[in-house]
Amino acid sequence: MKNVSSTVAGLGLAADPSAVAAAAANRSGSSSSRDLSRDAKALVVNASVAGHETAAEASARADRTAAEKAARAKAQAAAKAKAKVEAEQRALAASHRWVKPLSGYKLTSGFGFRWGRLHPAQDLACPVGTPVHALSSGKVIFAGWSTEGYGYLVKIQYWDGTVSWMAHNTRLVVSLGDKVVPGQTVSYSGNTGHSTGPHVHLEIHPGDGGPVVPRTWLAKRGVRL
Ligand SMILES: [Zn+2]
Repeated sequence: MKNVSSTVAGLGLAADPSAVAAAAANRSGSSSSRDLSRDAKALVVNASVAGHETAAEASARADRTAAEKAARAKAQAAAKAKAKVEAEQRALAASHRWVKPLSGYKLTSGFGFRWGRLHPAQDLACPVGTPVHALSSGKVIFAGWSTEGYGYLVKIQYWDGTVSWMAHNTRLVVSLGDKVVPGQTVSYSGNTGHSTGPHVHLEIHPGDGGPVVPRTWLAKRGVRL
């Protein structure tokens, strides 16, 4: 056994332990030098056949490796592309979300007829100087003094075309053309214009058209005033 191994090792061939064991098992108990020589030859043949197969397989293995590498690269590229799309979807969902205009308020006059005329808004009473937030992402289409009794007014057109009016502010912190994100402070509430007390007068104009009930419109977008 030792001799066989060393013979094979001496030939510079990798002796497969199982082949050596098989060769040893094939011997009929004899350990004559002739037997050992025959076993060694068998191993050499096996080893050279194995070596030949390895060479033939090496090319196939290289092909497989290249194919696997390409497949891995493809999978990685696909995963990267998927992650990018998901990140974009998350960013879009974040920019398209709707939020409350104020964090502390009391609902006062709602949308409806008041003193014989339509009050096309929801009034939210709050202390002067309360930060007023953009309802979603959009662009400021008016920021200034209203000649129609709204005091300092800010109008924002959102990504879906809807326009919000936030009136009676004490101070505006955005300008015409500014882009805003959901929750961004656009003004500080006040009591300017035709106002009977500190509050935010909120109007919602889908498509920049006629006003609708703000609470209903916002509720459909997950915002409960
Ligand atoms: Zn009002």
